[in-house]
Amino acid sequence: MRIGFIGLGNMGGPMAANLAKAGHEVIGFDMADVAVDGVTMAESGAAAAKGAEVVITMLPNGQILRSVADEIIPAMDKGAVFLDCSTVDVDSARAVAEEALAAGLSALDAPVSGGVGGAQGGTLTFMVGGDETGFDIAKPLFDIMGQKAVHCGPSGNGQAAKICNNMILGATMIVTCEAFALADKLGLDRQAMFDVVSTSSGQSWSMTTYCPAPGIGPKSPSDNDYQPGFAADLMLKDLRLAQQAAETADADTPLGQAAMKLYAQFVEQEDGKGRDFSAMLPRFEKRGHS
Ligand code: NAD
Repeated sequence: MRIGFIGLGNMGGPMAANLAKAGHEVIGFDMADVAVDGVTMAESGAAAAKGAEVVITMLPNGQILRSVADEIIPAMDKGAVFLDCSTVDVDSARAVAEEALAAGLSALDAPVSGGVGGAQGGTLTFMVGGDETGFDIAKPLFDIMGQKAVHCGPSGNGQAAKICNNMILGATMIVTCEAFALADKLGLDRQAMFDVVSTSSGQSWSMTTYCPAPGIGPKSPSDNDYQPGFAADLMLKDLRLAQQAAETADADTPLGQAAMKLYAQFVEQEDGKGRDFSAMLPRFEKRGHS
């Protein structure tokens, strides 16, 4: 398949490399001067998109996605698939899909979970919104770049699934960290706390798979001085998208809002920037009742 790939950063680079390694012809474009194994670089986004059966975008935010879409949609062949894998606001995802459909294209929003490690290893999970035809065409590409693709319904639903998931993740990580800090002060051994909670009703991915306490549970960023992993800045981005969507949809999400405020404080006023999102635990260790 001929594939255009726009946005070859930390995530897009390895995703494009995996497609090329699997034998697809990948034409890439990035604003920055980047080189990716097996990918032929084009002069512009439109040049990368022209003649491609699928064009994948992996960009920082909805505003950039909208401007790239304006440039590349007119260059794409009718019947081609516009496949956005960035994490963006639901409104931008739906607006871009509408523009693509009006131009005779298929449109999918397919944000991912799994991070840079998942992009490199081809083990991402895709949450996909958009039409069935586009999903069927893109399915073999999802199988190369990831291990699972869930079709969540019409355009925008992939982004909706992503922000709902990450709102749960942000809130459970915070409360898991709070609980470890409380357990410390109560004299409860961390390993004992893990052994109980990981097999009890308080368990979650934040505890069992990505434990924020160093030396406890499977290896995680806490064992590597909280190098990300999944950076607190990216968690903040996703929590803000969730709040933006909640406002638009008139949904009451008080814990999601509290999680967003706490990550904003951690990243913008404390030492959270550039650290893993599980570094909330050392943050709570330093603090008393407030
Ligand atoms: P990144 O900043 O490393 O990559 C983005 C790339 O887009 C950069 O190379 C940049 O030069 C390029 N770019 C920006 N504007 C452009 C334009 N107008 N035209 C062409 N290229 C342009 O970011 P990333 O970590 O690869 O993340 C990409 C997306 O994936 C984001 O939406 C992010 O939220 C999402 N995501 C990231 C992770 C992660 O762990 N990094 C995990 C899940 C989802």
